Amino acid sequence: MAKREDEKWDYWWGPWKDHIRCRCGALANLNFACPVCHKDFSIRHVEIDGEKVETPAVFPGALTWSHYAMLKMIYGDWARRSLGSHDIEALPLHGESPRALVVLVFWTFFESLMDWFYETSMRQLPPPVREDLLTRYNSIGARMDRLHRVLFCCKYSADLESVGGGAIRFHLEHLQKSRNQFVHGNPEAISDDLVHETVRLFPEFCAVWIRSFNLRCAERQS
Ligand SMILES: [Zn+2]
Repeated sequence: MAKREDEKWDYWWGPWKDHIRCRCGALANLNFACPVCHKDFSIRHVEIDGEKVETPAVFPGALTWSHYAMLKMIYGDWARRSLGSHDIEALPLHGESPRALVVLVFWTFFESLMDWFYETSMRQLPPPVREDLLTRYNSIGARMDRLHRVLFCCKYSADLESVGGGAIRFHLEHLQKSRNQFVHGNPEAISDDLVHETVRLFPEFCAVWIRSFNLRCAERQS
């Protein structure tokens, strides 16, 4: 049986493949000019024994090893075959999705991206101020709402809208509520429909998140 696109590793890794941190702080795809400062990454010149040599650019990837590991876990859980009847003890009890792990690990992945977002966007502030703000607003909800307003005069959801992520904004709000209900006594809040929607929107989520990062975390030349 042929694999569907979302059962292939490239569906999950593709949106991040070839992405690096540009000198301006933006996340950029090596195969194109930086979307913020327009630097071209395609060719580099280095001098070897007095001779100018062209070499392809080599950079570390944008994501951390933890991010990569989380994507592998989401992919592995999504792409595995359905449980058979002999695995009855592993099946859900009250209608919660057998693939709820996809959503739970995705949410952890998103929280980790947002930690990176706020640490980077505040890098110009004196360290004690930065640490105080991160401690004072230490939940993801408080950061995307109140901390974002302190820093940028709007909520993170407004940034998502401004970079064309209206559908992603709606999905993340739904996901946050469902994930909280899952943790607080209502595991069926993460339904199969929510899992499928999270998978379907994953490439769009990555593209929108990268645009929101570049909006707030790159240095713009005025
Ligand atoms: Zn740049």
